[in-house]
Amino acid sequence: MLFTYDTELTLRAAAVLVNSDRVDGEQLGDLAALDQYLNDFGWTGRRDRDDVELRAVHELRTRIGDIWDVADDEEATVDRVNALLGETKASPWLTRHVENPDWHLHLGAADDPLWQRMGAEIAMALADLIRGGELRRLKICAAPDCTAVLTDLSRNRSRIFCDTGNCGNRQHVAAYRQRQREEE
Ligand SMILES: [Zn+2]
Ligand SMILES: [Zn+2]
Repeated sequence: MLFTYDTELTLRAAAVLVNSDRVDGEQLGDLAALDQYLNDFGWTGRRDRDDVELRAVHELRTRIGDIWDVADDEEATVDRVNALLGETKASPWLTRHVENPDWHLHLGAADDPLWQRMGAEIAMALADLIRGGELRRLKICAAPDCTAVLTDLSRNRSRIFCDTGNCGNRQHVAAYRQRQREEE
């Protein structure tokens, strides 16, 4: 494990959030899809289940995606992460509960709006990454036709393709066909 369990989980959840409109169109288009996503990653606390909440999560998604897009630039990334920490009024406290019995950080009150708690937790996980000198682990998929993001949590930072859409395989097949053509 490179980071604490909750940091790694949040970084994975953040990548899946960003990718929810970067691969095969909008995958977080309604409240049922949002519920499914939140359950998959064990987000707890207040859920309004209304359009305001969904729109706020979409806006957060755009902001987090923007952070991935500028991750080559450390200063620009830090500015954005700090802005998010400030706006979400991130205030860490330790907790554990049925969904996650290990001690971990929550970054806001359970009745803060969903986007605000998500934003604070994602910002804090990104802060962990930056403090650890590991910002390079935020990557955009190397497949030429794919803009999906990934958090490379492999030991030697060797991942270059996203988890979605089978990009790694497609690139291997494309490279193989290219070699075959060259040999003909
Ligand atoms: Zn929790
Ligand atoms: Zn990809």
